[in-house]
This record gives sequence, C-alpha cells and structure tokens, in this order.
Amino acid sequence: MRLPRFTYLPAASVAEAVQLLGDGPDTQLVAGGTDLYPKMKRRQLRPRVLVGLGGVDELRGIHANGTVSIGAGTRLHELAVAPEVVERFPALARAASLVASAQIRNAGTVGGNLCVDTRCNYYDIPYERRCAHGSCLKAEGDVCALAPGGDRCWAVSSTDLAPVAHVLNGSVRLVGPRGERTVPIAALYTMDDGIDYLRKERDEVLTRLELPPDEGLRVTYVKFRRRGAIDFPLLGVAAAVRTDENGVCVDARLVLGAVATAPLPVPDAARALVGSSLGDDAIAEAAEIAAGSAKPMDALDLPPSYRKRMVAAHVARAFRELRDAAP
Ligand SMILES: Cc1cc2nc3c(=O)[nH]c(=O)nc-3n(C[C@H](O)[C@H](O)[C@H](O)COP(=O)(O)OP(=O)(O)OC[C@H]3O[C@@H](n4cnc5c(N)ncnc54)[C@H](O)[C@@H]3O)c2cc1C
Repeated sequence: MRLPRFTYLPAASVAEAVQLLGDGPDTQLVAGGTDLYPKMKRRQLRPRVLVGLGGVDELRGIHANGTVSIGAGTRLHELAVAPEVVERFPALARAASLVASAQIRNAGTVGGNLCVDTRCNYYDIPYERRCAHGSCLKAEGDVCALAPGGDRCWAVSSTDLAPVAHVLNGSVRLVGPRGERTVPIAALYTMDDGIDYLRKERDEVLTRLELPPDEGLRVTYVKFRRRGAIDFPLLGVAAAVRTDENGVCVDARLVLGAVATAPLPVPDAARALVGSSLGDDAIAEAAEIAAGSAKPMDALDLPPSYRKRMVAAHVARAFRELRDAAP
C-alpha cells in the first residue's frame, strides 16, 4: 500500500502550526505518523496537506512542579521511562509502555495518542475491499456496517493513555487561532459519535497534558489485547482508589477504554467500593456493575460477549491489584 500524494509543511512553532492549519479542511497535523500514515495508505483519511509537528521544540519535554506537564510531542517511550512520571504516575507510564510495539512507542507521541482515530473492523480495511464489500459511515458509505438501522458511527476509542489521564483528573491545553484553552480529559471525547470523536476544533493543536497532584491515590492500568507484543486494546481498565488509615476505601474511580466511542467512566461501579475494605465481594460487585455498563460491539477483534466477560475479569483484577499494593 502506498501513501497518496500530499504536501508536507514542517512547522517550527505551535503558532506556525496553527497558522498553517488555517489553510483549509484538507490540512491535518502529523506527529509520529504511526496512526495517520497507515490510515492514509488505506485511504481512510486523505489530507492533501500535512503540517509536521516533529520540529516543534516547545511541544517536547516533561515539567514537574506540583502539576506534571507533559509536552504533546513527548514520545511514548520517553513517557514510559521518565523518572517524574514513573514515580508520580506509574499507571500512566505503564499505559505508555503497553502501547503497540517498541518501534511505534519510539515514534508515536502523547498528543497523537490522545487524538488517535477511532477503530472499527469495517473501517480499518483497505480501500479496495471497502469498495468490493461495501463501505461504512466513517469512510465513503452512508450506512454503518455495524448497526445498519442507525445513523451513528460506533467506531471505538482506542487510546491507552486517555483512560488513565481521565482517572487522574488530567486536562489538555489546546492552542488555536482564537487563543488557548484548557479542556479536562473527561470533556475531550464525544460519546456515541465515532466520527466526530474529539471535542477539539480542527485548527487547534494539543500542546500539553497536565496532571494535578493527587497524594495518596493509588492508580493502575490493566490492558487486554490479543498479542502482548503489539496490539491495540480490546479493553483498557484505568482504576484508582484512596483508602484511609484503616484500609477503608474513601474514593474510587474507574474508566474503561475500547468499549465505546470515548473512554467510558463507570461511577456506579466505583461507588460500590467506597466504604468497603476492598474485599473480594465488594470488588466482584463493582466488576459486575462495570460489565453491565460496558456494551462492546462487533467493531473489534474477539466476540463482544467474550469482551464483556473480560470487563468483569479485568476490573476485578485491577482493583485487587490496588488493594494488594496498599502500603
Ligand atoms: C500496529 C499498530 C498498533 C497500535 N497499537 C496501539 C495501542 O496499543 N494503543 C494505542 O493507544 N495506540 C496504538 N496505535 C496507534 C498509534 O500508534 C498511537 O496511538 C500513537 O501514540 C499515535 O501517535 P502519533 O504521534 O504517531 O500520532 P499521528 O499518527 O501523528 O497522529 C494521530 C492523530 O492525532 C493528530 N495529532 C497528532 N498530534 C497532535 C497534536 N499535538 N494536536 C492535535 N492533534 C494531533 C493527528 O492529526 C492524527 O489525527 C497503534 C498503531 C499501529 C500502526
């Protein structure tokens, strides 16, 4: 598969990237290109102009004061081994270390991961096969191949970092022609719209991921995928608990990845743990509530009914890990 023709414009600064993006709807940002280039080869995306962020130094680097601020251009491998991230937000470092493969983590960036396109079996096939078998709503077609009766796209959010950033109450900085704004990760994604999945304007650049301090919160990320060496998540579980001096849970959070068009918070499951000592029964109840809330569809590998059962298994595993890691 070959890349289609396009013009590449390297930006030297965020301001220049914003200005170049203003050239029109056929213009798109590229960072590591690990998601965008394969999509262009499969003719899923056809930008005529790419604005390269690789040379924008202000997007690099991790700064830690109270808040940890991670440049959007930081490579996933750098994030996975950065001492200030490993020490303060080990679940985020773990999520980064579980993305794709070593080669992709060396090229893929934090900004690209948070903005990564949604995925679906019917969308992620080459153009020729889409032409032969019928296309889908997110590509050239006008009917969702997954749910032909509806008018929505159910392609799945597949970012490993976003669920963890969500439980950490993270936010992103967006810079555009109208200025700069902060958007909580919890408000960055659109539920039930796999096409317009980001609440970011087309001409905005995501510049930083910011994580506030959260003393005493224990956080983990558990990923379920077919091949451990290289694969998108079939399920991501970001879970967090805070316990008092008696081991009683006073705060719990749960966000699932890869089960909906956006990272899916499950507050009811988390609430079932508050006031408990994180015993097996309380964890099993939370896990069942989570599995009930998740409605995986036939958009990814493995049958949806199996992936739903995996939600209960992996949520339980995540909370047991947090309980057993108590100081
Ligand atoms: C085989 C394979 C396996 C993969 N496995 C995983 C996986 O397990 N988990 C996972 O999360 N991802 C996975 N990916 C997807 C991808 O590699 C990663 O998400 C990666 O982090 C994307 O970063 P990038 O810099 O390469 O993004 P790019 O491909 O450069 O861009 C991706 C999207 O983000 C936009 N973008 C990039 N930077 C910015 C910015 N600063 N501001 C605004 N928009 C921006 C681009 O316009 C584009 O729409 C996989 C990809 C492949 C090919």
